[in-house]
Amino acid sequence: TVSENPGTGRSRILVFVRLRPLAKKEKEAGSRCCVRILNRRDVYLTEFTHENDYLRLKRLRGRHFTFDASFPDNATQQDVYLTTTAELVEAVLQGRNGSVFCYGATGAGKTYTMLGTVENPGVMVLAIKDLFTKIRQRSSDGNHAVHLSYLEVYNETVRDLLSPGRPLVLREDKQGIVAAGLTQYRAYSTDEVMALLQQGNLNRTTEPTRVNETSSRSHAILQVVVEYRVKDASMNVVNRVGKLSLIDLAGSERALATDQRTLRSLEGANINRSLLALSSCINALVEGKKHIPYRNSKLTQLLKDSLGGACNTVMIANISPSNLSFGETQNTLHWADRAK
Ligand code: ADP
Ligand code: MG
Repeated sequence: TVSENPGTGRSRILVFVRLRPLAKKEKEAGSRCCVRILNRRDVYLTEFTHENDYLRLKRLRGRHFTFDASFPDNATQQDVYLTTTAELVEAVLQGRNGSVFCYGATGAGKTYTMLGTVENPGVMVLAIKDLFTKIRQRSSDGNHAVHLSYLEVYNETVRDLLSPGRPLVLREDKQGIVAAGLTQYRAYSTDEVMALLQQGNLNRTTEPTRVNETSSRSHAILQVVVEYRVKDASMNVVNRVGKLSLIDLAGSERALATDQRTLRSLEGANINRSLLALSSCINALVEGKKHIPYRNSKLTQLLKDSLGGACNTVMIANISPSNLSFGETQNTLHWADRAK
């Protein structure tokens, strides 16, 4: 029932890059900034090599990438929200689905971009705030109901982050694929949302060895569903539904590296499965393929109705400026470049 971009049969994915500031630790380790953002679009990545004197770095080569927009390390959360996501919030109010992904290595700034902090709330919170503002502006339109669900895919297991407990089973029904028993939290204002999401984020799976740190293998998916009634052309009252999915993906550094021997490798392989399946779906969409392999992972099954087609899909690639992360940054930029 959905249609692709008229004429081309392809789905357009908007791809953005966000550079985070150099961390204190990285500065102390004597690392250098190897990424520059030019004209708010171009990313220039420099590879350094060590000279004989091990502490001195010499410029080896550089490479240019161009994206729909690129954010320098002083870009504000509001800036990132307005450029990447504000239009999707508007679309959801027209009954269209959309999704925004943060992709990148662990420590590159995905959770900061998506969730943010109490002082600097991220895309998830700013989107919901904007949604409520827009709903208030058009309250004469009819009744709107906003429901939030927040879930995790970890090791191909789906868990409810708003009500932790047993894993959820995915079922196919008339509306598509749903996680049976998932909490649908009815939200009435923005104020409650930050606390709710932060609590949810604390429920994400942690590494056994580092209990305070979210596992780099955990994907977090916030879904915001807006339901409302409007009158159609013949003055009949119809229900409209739009869904916005905001996804803080697992660290991309493990997408290619797996160790087959240990228990960890099973988890690594499963992260592979969801990230690889997402990559395959995105590649198939941008190439205009008929068959999109949604079935290959839990993540892509859950997002089937929010990727491609008439949907708006946005990718934010997060990168560190430090030359110590050069390899990961290069991988992330190559991946993002292919998603365009
Ligand atoms: P990830 O979720 O990709 O593993 P985080 O979002 O946790 O990475 O970011 C790693 C660290 O860098 C955190 O301490 C975070 O607060 C900080 N950080 C990330 N992006 C920014 C930014 N744009 N501005 C300031 N601090 C940032
Ligand atoms: Mg994170």
